Amino acid sequence: SFRSGLLPYITNPSSLPPGTIIRETEHTILIRDLFPKALVHLLMLPKDPAFYNLTPFEAFNSDKEKNAAFLELMKTEAASAAQLAASELSRLVSQYSATCKARNDALDSDELPKDLPPARDFLPDIRIGVHAQPSMNTLHVHIISCDMHSSALKHKKHYNSFNTNFFISLEDFPLMEEDNLLDSVEQESLIKGDMKCWRCGKNFGNKFKQLKDHLEEEYEMWKKI
Ligand code: 5GP
Ligand code: ZN
Repeated sequence: SFRSGLLPYITNPSSLPPGTIIRETEHTILIRDLFPKALVHLLMLPKDPAFYNLTPFEAFNSDKEKNAAFLELMKTEAASAAQLAASELSRLVSQYSATCKARNDALDSDELPKDLPPARDFLPDIRIGVHAQPSMNTLHVHIISCDMHSSALKHKKHYNSFNTNFFISLEDFPLMEEDNLLDSVEQESLIKGDMKCWRCGKNFGNKFKQLKDHLEEEYEMWKKI
């Protein structure tokens, strides 16, 4: 079923178009989300069959020693994937390119202007985490930029699944008892609840179109800072 759609990336990589896997280590593969919900949206999948069919909670919130080691491994590899995502983001965002061009022009003309802004570090704009209730069964960690600037972002669930507590930072694992496993009623209420701007917190309620328009305004400002 579609819920196993991520498995072939691990089990049958030769069936994929070249370049599909953007990075591979001994333990994980890194791919692009087919329906990116932000400017940069990657998925990191563990290759170990002992883990790849587990839910995030089974994999990351178990007391077992091997799960704790696995969680640490995934955090480390996700941090390095986030570096890659940050440099991709910086290439995509025009202000930075403009800065680079100015730097290069300056170097060419051997006259370095003093007031050139420093290159922006986009790592703080990259988020690493999982969904409380993933739609795809193969264990995956989202590595996603915060902008939510994407034509594939088409409805409320898309937005709220990344911008409420339905999205759980990998860093938050292992979860405290009281934060453990949002029940399905809580999950549903987060997904169906109000949509709030990731940047300024403005509440758009159910008004998706207005949120989308606002996200584009925020995007223009965010990329300029
Ligand atoms: P989940 O809600 O399960 O955490 O997120 C699953 C993600 O997988 C979604 O962001 C969705 O866009 C992405 N996705 C769904 N099918 C495919 C696919 O066949 N290939 C890739 N690369 N991503 C997919
Ligand atoms: Zn806003």
